[in-house]
Amino acid sequence: MITRRTLMAGLAAAAALPRWAYAAAPADGVDPALVQFIKGLPKSEYHVHLEGTLEAEMKFALARRNGLGLPFADVAAMKASYNYHDLASFLAIYYDGMKVLLKEQDFRDLAYAYLARAAAQNVIYTEMFFDPQEHLKRGVPMEAVIMGITRARREAETMLGIRSQLILCFVRDSSAESAMAALDAALPFKQYLVGVGLDSDEAGHPPEKFAAHFAKARANGLHVTAHCDIDQPGTLTNIRTALVDLKVDRIDHGGNIVQSPELVAIAKQRNMYFTVCPTFSGTLRKGLDQPVDVVRAMLDAGLKVTISSDDPAYMASEYINDVLLRAVTRSNLSRAELAQIARNGFEAAWLPEADKRLLLARLDAYLASV
Ligand SMILES: [Zn+2]
Repeated sequence: MITRRTLMAGLAAAAALPRWAYAAAPADGVDPALVQFIKGLPKSEYHVHLEGTLEAEMKFALARRNGLGLPFADVAAMKASYNYHDLASFLAIYYDGMKVLLKEQDFRDLAYAYLARAAAQNVIYTEMFFDPQEHLKRGVPMEAVIMGITRARREAETMLGIRSQLILCFVRDSSAESAMAALDAALPFKQYLVGVGLDSDEAGHPPEKFAAHFAKARANGLHVTAHCDIDQPGTLTNIRTALVDLKVDRIDHGGNIVQSPELVAIAKQRNMYFTVCPTFSGTLRKGLDQPVDVVRAMLDAGLKVTISSDDPAYMASEYINDVLLRAVTRSNLSRAELAQIARNGFEAAWLPEADKRLLLARLDAYLASV
């Protein structure tokens, strides 16, 4: 989820050139051999919001199927509106888009479309976020949401060979009660979930607001992750709370940790993995004279970085290969670092050790072949 802070940081950084309107193609300036290496690299993805993969074409298709009108003449007009320049216009587009998701088949189609795109880019394993509170409040039953996505996961594994799991995200700027209601509604389907997470606007909604939710999720066998967005107020306090007090299993974004050697040491000691999304959240600014590249700073600090696409439908439709290609240039990534990022991804999987070893073996076979 793009948060207020993330969005504003992205907009500020993109003042000269909106990041969703890149002048250059992702592979421009990248060694063609490295482009091929990235395309063939077996990959994972842990920070992708399914609602953020809802492409304009699918919004129109679902709106037609569900008998809904959209305030755009056609796909081109809708995509043109994605040149948003303030938070209000972005959120209007983002939440309006979700309204076309009403039935189990809609969630199946959304998830399958993402999984097909990911599989085509050699993502062989993914753990996907979804925001059920946004759907429950429109009267969509939890069962329709989870079972639609689950059907897509099964079909994609059979048809496309991509394995996936599902993470329920609490919308942190909604009430703690509505988050608990969503968790309670999801628990009858917990065999289809692997974890819970925390997204949306962090300001004023620190991770401890969800301590009881995390405890209940853990008691039901689920893993726990949390967004610690870039340059949030109290970001180091929130990272410490997530890392030390709530003992989350993974952190989404979390780049400001490089500003605290003590927290970096704790993260390393806990073997913590970070899901970093450089498209919108790639630059640290808070309290710094010069912006710092998040991926570069985290790698240089010795942290375990994975890279994901976040909300690609709203970020120039750039999925994982494009995100990695741009990271090569902006974060000055070497082939060895790209391989390490891929390895981190499979090691970070919420899977049994034997399954992780199978994924890592596929990576090793690829690296030995190129
Ligand atoms: Zn996110």
